[in-house]
Amino acid sequence: MVTSSNWRSVFPDSGSSTAALNEKLATTTDPSVCNQSVQTVGDMLFFMVREGLGRKLIIAGEGEAGGRFSGDLEKVYDYQVKVCLLTTENRIALQSIFEWLIPQASGRQKASIGLGDRLGLATPGHIATVRNRNVMPILAQQSIRELDLTGRDYIEVLDAAAWTVFQEGYTHGYGADGDHLKRKDDVKMALDLGFSMITLDCSEHINDQVSSMSDAEVLEHYQQLDAGLRNHFEAAYLGQEFTLASGTTITFAASSFQKMVLVYVRALDFAEEVYQTLIKPANRNIDFEMSIDEVATPTTPQDHFFVANELISRGVELNSLAPRFVGEFQKGIDYIGDPNQFESEFKIHAEIADHFGYKISVHSGSDKFMVFDVIGRYTKCRFHIKTAGTNWLEAVRVIAEVNPQLYREMHEYALRHLDEARKYYHVAFNESDIPKLGTLSDQKLPDLMNQPAARQAIHIAYGVLLQAKTADGEYLFKDRLYRELLINQELYTQRLKEHIGKHLDLLNVR
Ligand SMILES: [Zn+2]
Repeated sequence: MVTSSNWRSVFPDSGSSTAALNEKLATTTDPSVCNQSVQTVGDMLFFMVREGLGRKLIIAGEGEAGGRFSGDLEKVYDYQVKVCLLTTENRIALQSIFEWLIPQASGRQKASIGLGDRLGLATPGHIATVRNRNVMPILAQQSIRELDLTGRDYIEVLDAAAWTVFQEGYTHGYGADGDHLKRKDDVKMALDLGFSMITLDCSEHINDQVSSMSDAEVLEHYQQLDAGLRNHFEAAYLGQEFTLASGTTITFAASSFQKMVLVYVRALDFAEEVYQTLIKPANRNIDFEMSIDEVATPTTPQDHFFVANELISRGVELNSLAPRFVGEFQKGIDYIGDPNQFESEFKIHAEIADHFGYKISVHSGSDKFMVFDVIGRYTKCRFHIKTAGTNWLEAVRVIAEVNPQLYREMHEYALRHLDEARKYYHVAFNESDIPKLGTLSDQKLPDLMNQPAARQAIHIAYGVLLQAKTADGEYLFKDRLYRELLINQELYTQRLKEHIGKHLDLLNVR
């Protein structure tokens, strides 16, 4: 919302009692005060205010803690007040006072949902969705690809989440996920910044070529592995039977065993190295996720068991593992594939995760309404699920509702630059399935965000749209988009609450 009122007018005009100010802040309906943000520390009050489209942190009263913040001192009536910008330094100072502002690991027992927020504006909606539900929100979650495409960095991502957690007074804990990190340097950077979750993308160490090798080639490559390692693998798995809680057994056929080893052996080494040299030495609770999902072939139960068993026997403490499930988990649209086959395989994946005690992680988890019930049921709500682009699509839906002209420009631009956008994401829609914009009235535009082809086109185009500039170097859409979303923050919150709430309802997270 745009605020024209002044938060100073809410202050009591006589005395300097913190209790009296607190009372006024708690009961005011003035939109310049973020009511939920008010926190008391000794004789000081910390709270957030709105000025125009911006926000500031206010510290009222005097005390040692105020010295940690940089800001301008002023008198509001008889109150001593410090007006602080929402800088990274002030965010870190605030985290030193309110521990719940520090990203925390979700652990293995509780459902968690990754809520990637590419614009840094979705947190009010995400908090409104998870409040009073038994799920840990991972409010800061971005991959390096997303940072590149949005022009943001990890510090901005953490700032955006923490300030809004404070604004909303959400004290139940949230996480920050360095998502799909492929390089040790990136893992180290994320850990140094305080991320509470690391999703290690092992795809570059998974050998997708093995499936097209001849038997002779497989044998040749297999024999190049260290003999001790081969002996260990063969003794540990061939001829062995592993029984899961339901009685389901996992066995390894000699005919495919060498192939499986060749596909994953380097990924195991990489995950072990990252864990032993970075995660473990960090010496704090970190949700360590191994992702093997961004590969060509689905993860079989044998693959899953082998990878998990090896990592755990090497001392790696996994918090979650993301297999590549059967069928297709394309971005921003429902599951593609046979839901019955998904169910019969997911059930075993969930059981393997239970066997080892970690959570199954479902990537590209947004909008998979067809299979959410299965995911919630077989994991008994002990899962991690990632969403990202769908939160951007709800932002675009709001634009279509409040500024049809801006939506039309963005839509046309996205379609003109589809080839560029497709370089970053695998999606399989046909452009011809997107209704022609000229045939649609303004009222019909938001409905495009219910149509798979249009959703996918807009989904993958976020980087193209956010970076588009005019010949004069002005942003073509970014500034207008942010402005509309800030003005219509309540509507965006409402749309997220409906959309992500539907996910959690079907997953049976109450
Ligand atoms: Zn993934």
